[in-house]
Amino acid sequence: MNQIAPQPGIMEIALYQGGKASVEGVSNVIKLSSNENPFGPSEAAQEAVRRAAREMHRYPSTDHAELRAAIAEVHGLDARQIICGVGSDEIIHFLCQAYAGPGDEVIHTEHGFAMYRISALAAGATPVEVPEQERVTDVDAILAAAGPKTKLVFLANPNNPTGTMIGLAEIERLAEGLPPQAILVLDGAYAEYVEGYDGGAALAGSRSNVVMTRTFSKLYGLGGMRVGWGYGSQEIIDVLNRIRGPFNLSTVALAAAEAAIRDTAYVERCRSENTRLRNWLAEALAEHGVPSDASTANFVLARFGSPEEAAACDAFLQSEGLIVRRVAGYNLPAALRITVGDEPSCRRVAHVIGRFK
Ligand code: PMP
Repeated sequence: MNQIAPQPGIMEIALYQGGKASVEGVSNVIKLSSNENPFGPSEAAQEAVRRAAREMHRYPSTDHAELRAAIAEVHGLDARQIICGVGSDEIIHFLCQAYAGPGDEVIHTEHGFAMYRISALAAGATPVEVPEQERVTDVDAILAAAGPKTKLVFLANPNNPTGTMIGLAEIERLAEGLPPQAILVLDGAYAEYVEGYDGGAALAGSRSNVVMTRTFSKLYGLGGMRVGWGYGSQEIIDVLNRIRGPFNLSTVALAAAEAAIRDTAYVERCRSENTRLRNWLAEALAEHGVPSDASTANFVLARFGSPEEAAACDAFLQSEGLIVRRVAGYNLPAALRITVGDEPSCRRVAHVIGRFK
């Protein structure tokens, strides 16, 4: 008998299916399924990568001091309270590994990001799904679900795949009301898209039970480099650093991220273009009879009359060379998540959906 078996929970994790960038037999494909920056990385980041490539025979920095200093400077944070990871995915993973185990519960929202459940199960903990109100985070429902076994509460704000967000006062009320052993993780992967929103940085800086995660994969256009970071109390950051591999980030990734975060003019341009095109896309879809939630991020959640209609529209879009994201796995079978692309892509996707309708 084969006695080799994974830890309980591991086989409950579904293999990741996303990321497709081509459609067989279709040319000129546009990928609008991974919420990437359609304008690419900044020139400064590309130049930094070329320079850093000359040093690729050396191991990278282990403490990420330069990148943490750049993040701290740009966001006005304490560099000692920052940890960098292979995407914010890795920070989510560290949090689960360090703080949740068998018998512990990890809360995520009904339409929350898939990694929370994956990382909770990988740590041997039990994921607990909390319902949302019309695709908006329901703080009271989270508080009602939290109990003595709750170790982590993951909340993306803005949320993926809904694009909706809640205010800081609500988040503070949540942090205040959680049991003392629970950490609230505020996932700010899309925080940069919201003018004036700090992603919960001030809250994470002042409350010992709040951690904020951020990424370079979205507005900074570095999804392929895999850089994210977390911000929280020095005690929590110290714990996470103990399980972090000493060379988790490559020399080129560190250089790209540092240049990208300092290129504030480029970031600003991408943000304002995203806002303009997102509003245009939402309106164009509405005119074709496809409503979407009030998105604050770089995608819209287009809602159809039925799961069958959403599936048929997805198939039609693919046949026309447009890849968007089915979100049935997020309890949203009648919706499609569409990344805000550049202007020609937005026009093309709106046009094709108009023809479908
Ligand atoms: N959180 C949310 C809400 C996301 O949508 C994503 C990426 N899809 C991530 C975290 C992870 O991003 P990354 O690992 O690229 O930083």
